[in-house]
Amino acid sequence: MRVAFRTIGCRLNQAETARIAAQFEAVGYEIVHNTDDADICIIHGCAVTEVAEKKCARLARSLKQGKRQPIVVLAGCIAEVGSKKLLSSSEADLSIGQADKFSIPGILATRLGLDTKAAHSTESDILTPKFFTTRALIPVQDGCNFRCSYCIVPEARGNPASRASVEILQEAERLADAGYREVVLTGANIGCYTDSGLSLLHLLEKIESIHGIERIRLSSIELSTIEADIATYMRSSEKLCRYLHIPLQSGSDRILTSMRRRYDTTAYRRAIEQILANNTPVGLGTDVIVGFPGEDHAAFAETVSFVKSLPFSNLHVFRYSKRPGTVAAEMPNHIQEQEKKNRSNTVMALGQELKRTFAAQFTGKSVSLLVEKVSDKGLASGWTGEYVEAAIYGEDLNANQIITFEPTSLSDTILQGEAPSK
Ligand code: SF4
Repeated sequence: MRVAFRTIGCRLNQAETARIAAQFEAVGYEIVHNTDDADICIIHGCAVTEVAEKKCARLARSLKQGKRQPIVVLAGCIAEVGSKKLLSSSEADLSIGQADKFSIPGILATRLGLDTKAAHSTESDILTPKFFTTRALIPVQDGCNFRCSYCIVPEARGNPASRASVEILQEAERLADAGYREVVLTGANIGCYTDSGLSLLHLLEKIESIHGIERIRLSSIELSTIEADIATYMRSSEKLCRYLHIPLQSGSDRILTSMRRRYDTTAYRRAIEQILANNTPVGLGTDVIVGFPGEDHAAFAETVSFVKSLPFSNLHVFRYSKRPGTVAAEMPNHIQEQEKKNRSNTVMALGQELKRTFAAQFTGKSVSLLVEKVSDKGLASGWTGEYVEAAIYGEDLNANQIITFEPTSLSDTILQGEAPSK
């Protein structure tokens, strides 16, 4: 039987989809990309925003109403905390929540009378390397108990739980053996990683010693969990990418308190200044939520001005989305959708400007590019360690190559140049 996967949501979901795919492969399924070729479609979905939730339901419905009508499974956060009405309108055959997301082949076998070999499947540690393109995602922990007032993740994923470091290191070694050169550590709240006294920084040091891994990247990390030594480590490390994604959410202290975030703007600025202290360029990503309940024009203006005051290179902008069951859903002074849209457009335009400014400093300087794909015309594109998009022309360029070159120009936000001649 053939199975296709669609992931909606965060990098942790993407990482988990790869593990679920590995389980299917281990019990004899063929993994296909095109849903038109699939007998089963797994939608590993998200419920963090209403938009994501609706997207999952729409996708399930369109698959069920299409020509092939595969078995459709909604899995993960969407199945765990998604609106019941939406789940039933999706026409999906099964909803499988967090507790069972790594037992899907077995559940399908027993519930739908499918391939009996799959009935014995258990959680597999064997990743399907081909499921990633060039950057391999490694989940290091799951869950969060910070309970920010707008966030449904603690309901969807439960309390923090870290994977054993031995298991993570074995996975990293297998990925290196399979030819992956960059690994990305992901989780719901990765800064909470702990395994018998071993912190995220210790884990980084251990992964750094794995032969074949040339780049290590951290996915989003909460400001209050960043270890004091991370900036020093980043400066001395040969492999840890000079890029950190640290969610800000708002530049108004009043709104940050209302969001139940664990910092104020002064602490945020101080931390960023420490990270940038020795003038080595570090890409800085962040998330901003616009239109949180009670965010008046003055509070929004504070956010814009705060964002402008720091050298962010990558902004993810979210319109506040009411999640039933959260504290913020019950707050007064919700903002009109059109106003949220306007604010989001303003911050996104600012994000493009900041991205351009950050990227521009690399023209004429040496950067390293991990090639993700090469077009038919021979244009190789990918990302630098600082997470700046780059594209180069050259001979015999291949995906998964790391190339050091000097960008000669910037096209919008993309560094451009020629590969050095061999
Ligand atoms: S830190 Fe806050 S926003 Fe992030 S997952 Fe936990 S509760 Fe949600």
